[in-house]
Amino acid sequence: MTNGEGPDGARNTQHATRNTQHATRNTQYAISVTIRPQVIHLLVGDAAPSYSFDLAGRLIGAFEGGRNYRRGLDNRVLQKWAEAGVRQRRWLAPDEARAFLEAAYRLADTAAVAIGDPRLDVLRGWDWARLQTEAARFAAVYRPVSILPPDQYLALVLQATEGCSHNRCTFCDFYQGRPFRIKSPDELRDHIGAVRQFFGPALPLRKSLFLADANALVAPMARLVGWLDVIAEKRILPPGAGIYSFMDAFDVQRKSLAEWTELATRGLRRVYIGMETGDDVLLRWLVKPGAMADVIEAVITLKSAGVAVSVIVMTGIGGEHYAEAHVRGTINALNAMPLAAGDIVYFSPFVDQPGSAYGRLAAEAGINPLNDAEIASQEAAIRAGLRFRDPAHPPQCSKYDIREFIY
Ligand code: SF4
Repeated sequence: MTNGEGPDGARNTQHATRNTQHATRNTQYAISVTIRPQVIHLLVGDAAPSYSFDLAGRLIGAFEGGRNYRRGLDNRVLQKWAEAGVRQRRWLAPDEARAFLEAAYRLADTAAVAIGDPRLDVLRGWDWARLQTEAARFAAVYRPVSILPPDQYLALVLQATEGCSHNRCTFCDFYQGRPFRIKSPDELRDHIGAVRQFFGPALPLRKSLFLADANALVAPMARLVGWLDVIAEKRILPPGAGIYSFMDAFDVQRKSLAEWTELATRGLRRVYIGMETGDDVLLRWLVKPGAMADVIEAVITLKSAGVAVSVIVMTGIGGEHYAEAHVRGTINALNAMPLAAGDIVYFSPFVDQPGSAYGRLAAEAGINPLNDAEIASQEAAIRAGLRFRDPAHPPQCSKYDIREFIY
C-alpha cells in the first residue's frame, strides 16, 4: 500500500478530542488532516510536507522539501527559501506549478477518500483545468490586485476604485495603463456580489477588508459613506472586522479631522502611507506627490481621528547619491510622528520595477544603485536612529518585500 491509500488508512481514521482533527495511517506514512473554521491543513508524516487549503478547497500554501510555497488566486505559485540566511524567492514556471499543484491535490484526494469526512469533499476533483478555470473566474471578478501591505495579504479586497489617482511616481508600475476610476455604490454592490460568489465558503479566511486599489480614500466623503453603507448592508465581513487602505499623505488633508473620525467610527482601522523617504529633494525627484511635512501632518491627523497608520519607507531608493540625505531625512520624519503600538513602520527594499521610468532616469542622472547589503545597512541605520515617543509601546517595525506579494 502506498501514499496513504487503501483500507488501512480508512480504518485508522481517528477523531481528536475537539472534534476538528482526524488522522489516517498506513505502513508508509501518516497523513493528518485538521479542519479549522477557516482552513484545512494536511500534514504528511510528523512534520512535512504540509499543505493548507481554504474551505473552497483552493490550495493557499505549502511547506515541502524545506521550501515554502504560496499559491495565488491567479494560480501562480511563489517558492520561498533561505540560503546562508538570505531569503530567496522565485515564481514557479507554469509546468512546475502544474506538477506541484497536481501532486498536492492527489495527496489531498487520497486523504479525503481515506478519512471520509464530507467536509473534505472540497479537496476532491481538482485538476489543472479546474485550477485554471478558477484563475479565470478570479480575473473576471478583479482587476489585477497589484499590491497589498504584508499584514493584509489575507484581507478581502474590494476594488472600490481602480488604479491610482496619482500614477506618476517614477519607481512604480503597479497601475500603469489602468485609468483611475471611482466606483458608484451600485457598482460596489455588484462587485461585492461577485466577490462573495467567487470566495464562497472560503470567505471566513478573510479577516479584514482592504479598500483598493491605490488611494481609494481620496474619494469624496459622500461617496465613501455610500460605500460603507453598502459594505454594511451586504454583511461581507464578520462584525468588528476592520477596514484598511492605502492613501497618499498629500490627500489626507483634503478631509477634515471630523470626517476621518467618522470614518474611524465606521470601521476604518489603519491607513498605509507610502512615505518612501524623508528627504524632500528625493521625493521631488521621484515625482511623489506632496512633501515630508504632508506625511507628518497626515499621520497626526489620522492618529487624532483614531485611525492607526502604517508608514512605508523605501530603502535603497535614490541609490548612493541620495543615501545620506535619505537616511537622515527619514529618521527625522519618523521621529516627528506620534507613532505607537498599533502602527507599523515598513521597510521596503527598492525593486526596480520593469515598467517604471526609475532605472532609465537613475542611469541618466548617474545614480549608482545600492546593492542588497547596502540596502540592509541603510535599513539598520534608519532603525538605529528611531526614537519613539513611548518606548514602552513602540510601533511594529517590519520588512515589506514587494517581491513576496501574492493574493
Ligand atoms: S507609488 Fe503609490 S502614489 Fe505613486 S504611482 Fe504608485 S500607487 Fe500611485
